[in-house]
Amino acid sequence: MQVQKPYRILLYYKYTPVDNYEEYAAEHLKFCKDNGLLGRIIIAPEGINGTVSGTIEQTEAYMNYVRQDPRFADMWFKIDESEEHAFKKMYVRAKKELVTWRLENDVDPNEKTGTHLNPKEFYEMMQEEDVVILDGRNYYEYDLGHFRGAIRPEVDSSREFPEWIRENMSQFKDKKVLTYCTGGIRCEKLTGVLMDQGFENVYQLHGGIVSYGKDPEVQGRLWDGKCYVFDERISVPINHTEEDVVIGRCYYCGKVEDRYLNCANPFCNKQHFCCPECEQTYKRSCSDECREHPRNRFVEAEKKAKLAAAGAKA
Ligand SMILES: [Zn+2]
Ligand SMILES: [Zn+2]
Repeated sequence: MQVQKPYRILLYYKYTPVDNYEEYAAEHLKFCKDNGLLGRIIIAPEGINGTVSGTIEQTEAYMNYVRQDPRFADMWFKIDESEEHAFKKMYVRAKKELVTWRLENDVDPNEKTGTHLNPKEFYEMMQEEDVVILDGRNYYEYDLGHFRGAIRPEVDSSREFPEWIRENMSQFKDKKVLTYCTGGIRCEKLTGVLMDQGFENVYQLHGGIVSYGKDPEVQGRLWDGKCYVFDERISVPINHTEEDVVIGRCYYCGKVEDRYLNCANPFCNKQHFCCPECEQTYKRSCSDECREHPRNRFVEAEKKAKLAAAGAKA
């Protein structure tokens, strides 16, 4: 039997009117801080979207707190177990939108959205003939892992999707379009955007990739690589079958590698695949300039470690 880990990471969203969203955000932040949770939450007039981490007790208390509110009584929390917190700080932001789309004609997912498919339905439909699979995330998330055969969108924010679809997807209007994203929230509006552009058969993966990876029957099949996540973990495994493959390659030596690291230059932060050896050799930096940057975090950490070692000897 597996031992339960001491921490949990919750991922959740809901589109529902929140009239007092600024007030609710302030109250929400207070609850999270008082209860020791860490993470990132957005509250908007159209709903809530968050990822938080905490101990089992803290996350239990948080889920009860959220569900006490009649607007969120049926909230679906996707739960990951963890050895530790997945964030360093606690943010609750009051924003205009949960995901920044800035659509000319906004779509309300409660009125217009693609058909939700559970993991098994999605797995089966992916293998049909007249289907295209569209990744609903950004290209750098796709590059770490994606469904086999999915289209890679050349976008680095949701805002760029409507135009990108108009320019690149029109030949697929008579096909079934299947979309997916990390936890499901981005597909809620992305499928509405597709429908507004004349796509008629639009489907979305309910609960996103993270739920797909947890489904006991499909076990993440047809997922290649890992799933990018927006917390300290950077990525999580999805495909739990023997077909699991690594699709990343070390930026320096080209070896198969799926460690995704941020460049040590704090002004660059570029994410790149990097093996442990090259991380040392190239000081986790994506270029010579970054390696020589006076604030390079890798170099600073090396210096600190040297000083500490010298101090311990003295
Ligand atoms: Zn390498
Ligand atoms: Zn860099």
